[in-house]
Amino acid sequence: MKLTVLGATGSIGVSTLDVVARHPERFEIVALTGHRQVDVLAAQCIKFRPAFAVVGSAVDAQRLTSLLKDTGLRTGLRTEVLHGADALAQVACLPEVDAVMAAIVGAAGLPPTLAAARAGKRLLLANKEALVMAGAVFMSEARRAGALLLPIDSEHNAIFQSMPHNYAGDMARGGIRRILLTASGGPFRATPLDLLPGVTPEQAVAHPKWSMGRKISVDSATMMNKGLEVIEAHWLFNAPADRIEVVIHPQSVIHSLVDYEDGSVLAQLGNPDMRTPIAHALAWPERIDSGVPALDLFTVAQLNFERPDLARFPCLDLAYRALRAEGNAAAVLNAANEVAVTAFLDRRLPFLGIADLIAATLDVVPQAALPDLDAVLEADRLGRAAAIDILARLPA
Ligand code: NAD
Ligand code: MG
Repeated sequence: MKLTVLGATGSIGVSTLDVVARHPERFEIVALTGHRQVDVLAAQCIKFRPAFAVVGSAVDAQRLTSLLKDTGLRTGLRTEVLHGADALAQVACLPEVDAVMAAIVGAAGLPPTLAAARAGKRLLLANKEALVMAGAVFMSEARRAGALLLPIDSEHNAIFQSMPHNYAGDMARGGIRRILLTASGGPFRATPLDLLPGVTPEQAVAHPKWSMGRKISVDSATMMNKGLEVIEAHWLFNAPADRIEVVIHPQSVIHSLVDYEDGSVLAQLGNPDMRTPIAHALAWPERIDSGVPALDLFTVAQLNFERPDLARFPCLDLAYRALRAEGNAAAVLNAANEVAVTAFLDRRLPFLGIADLIAATLDVVPQAALPDLDAVLEADRLGRAAAIDILARLPA
């Protein structure tokens, strides 16, 4: 199988290449992309010998070219270095590529991820923001092009594995009562509420169970990550908001569950390591070694469950509200969240200010329908502009 990995230098990208390296007879890398981490990308190019590598800027493209020059002379490595957003979409659509791992973080991942869907690729979808922003457009274009969507987000991958094998987006026909999305609760699940205003970026990105990129780590701390995942599940499985329930499960061993009309509840379990869903989606419908050790239930010993506290995690409530509001609300929510998380990481916004900024942004951006990609990108632009404006007016 020939692969493009969008966001190869990130947490999911690195885990993907780890699985790929275990099966050289099975996978071939055609293109790798990284935004600014040129040294990491250079090492990946030398190891996986892709035909194309894409970085963000012309300066970084030059730097990558010179880093690869010696290896090229010695070993005949010929990686064509490209840069910019159009190049991302280009390597996602190459005719020789069978599958695309969509692992760019945030709204920047939407255009190339959608391009891969439109090209009818097997699409390994980690970039949840693409679905949150553009769910309706995305799903209809993927369906029209015959793209095979395989969720990488551990919860959605677990649901996919627990669904009827012929599930066609109809919960009633599938006999499905509810989708139960598990959440670890992040680093602040049990922190006294009066300590939350003083939480630092370092504390927020130190996730107790998963090692991930900075943005999704902050999203996990606010539980916006779970909110985005509720919206993601809505689109992937055609499930209404009131059939998707979030369950806090601190051990992160059950990755999600499907509750059936007959009382059966099917779940997928495993050690919290993204190489499991990645290997699942790479090989589906077969199974391959992912490098993840076998789950030892005797060490796990206990599985606990709690109802999420919406006063502690207002972002989860905001996401449900955006999903129910339909139209552009989820795209605006996502845009405001990206602005808020960046501001928090830059110490320009306190932790509790993240939810406030998103709520204020949703209040000022007018509702609109999202018939096509242009409307989605406009909603993203309006959400970002409004959030930046509100942020600028906050007292320092
Ligand atoms: P990360 O920050 O570790 O990596 C992000 C990747 O995107 C990097 O390769 C970076 O170079 C690239 N990138 C960043 N900005 C870009 C831009 N403007 N243009 C092009 N490329 C850009 O993030 P991650 O943790 O690997 O997450 C990637 C995606 O997968 C996110 O959407 C996240 O929600 C999702 N996801 C991650 C995990 C996880 O365990 N890390 C789990 C589930 C879902
Ligand atoms: Mg997840």
